[in-house]
Amino acid sequence: MYVRSRDVRDYVLARAGGVCEGCAGPAPFATASGRPYLEAHHIRRLSDGGPDDPRHVAGICPNCHRRAHYASDRSAFNAVLQRKVNEREANLEN
Ligand SMILES: [Zn+2]
Ligand SMILES: [Zn+2]
Repeated sequence: MYVRSRDVRDYVLARAGGVCEGCAGPAPFATASGRPYLEAHHIRRLSDGGPDDPRHVAGICPNCHRRAHYASDRSAFNAVLQRKVNEREANLEN
């Protein structure tokens, strides 16, 4: 199943509900359109963008996003993100 990246992004940000899926903190600010600002991160990729499965995309705050790409513990952190996304997706199916 492939969906356009924008749809995946919208889905993931709606799933996050304004709360970072990494640190569980609130989005740092609201956008000009009034939405909580979070970023879509592709857990299994080195770079973001393009179509992907929302089960492997996390909605996270800018801080967690930089961590997921650049931190010394990024492998472990991405594993944590994947676990949290798995839990959320499992809850949505119930
Ligand atoms: Zn965060
Ligand atoms: Zn990313």
